[in-house]
Amino acid sequence: MAAVFVSEEKIVKKELGNLLELQDIDLRIRKLDEEIAEGHTDLEEKQKAIDARREEAVDLAERLEVVEKEKRDVENDFEEELIRLKDRQSKLMNVQTNREYQSLLKEIETTKVENKRREEEILRYTEIAEAMAAKIAELNNTSDAEEGLLAEEKSKVEALATELEAKKADIDKARSQKVGKVDKAVYKRYEQLRDRRNGVAIVGVTDGVCQGCFMNIPAQQFNEVLRGDQLHTCPTCQRMMYHRPAEEEE
Ligand SMILES: [Zn+2]
Repeated sequence: MAAVFVSEEKIVKKELGNLLELQDIDLRIRKLDEEIAEGHTDLEEKQKAIDARREEAVDLAERLEVVEKEKRDVENDFEEELIRLKDRQSKLMNVQTNREYQSLLKEIETTKVENKRREEEILRYTEIAEAMAAKIAELNNTSDAEEGLLAEEKSKVEALATELEAKKADIDKARSQKVGKVDKAVYKRYEQLRDRRNGVAIVGVTDGVCQGCFMNIPAQQFNEVLRGDQLHTCPTCQRMMYHRPAEEEE
């Protein structure tokens, strides 16, 4: 088994110690990044919900315009027919023949029936338009209230992010110092593994089992890890390994 790093036991031990501290720092930085991102994701989701509601109100307003236009058309027809009705009613006084009289009467009756239907239609349009206007107002009121809350939340998230960024800056300084203490080749390997293995590049081996992938490592390699003068990688997950006795487990 090729080791990543071979030296005297105490130097390998120091290297391991530095790597573990570096990994701890990196995991803390990652957690801070996640916390910052989480706050922003939450805000984005809430903003999206508000935008969707605003859009719904706009769509509804467009539909309301159509309803109002249809209602006006019926109202115009109603008014026009009303004028015609009055005209026919006045003509009734001057008709010459009974046939003409009957014909006019029939027209008057038909117009009355149709206008009655128009009145009902206008009433229906009015009810629909009122319900739509109420819904639009409700959507907009809810959006206004939520936007107010979101603005408050946004300033809180931003304040927290600033705080977390400041913490991160401190940890970054500690990180640079720690990186300076790690062997260059080992550090390069560490960074590659961290990238590929979800932030965990170095793991304990307990009773011959890698605690990163929970696979057994060969007995010979385990003996070398136990000896502590070499820095090995797990044959399965390739993470760097150090010996962690069973009693250290939680
Ligand atoms: Zn492993």
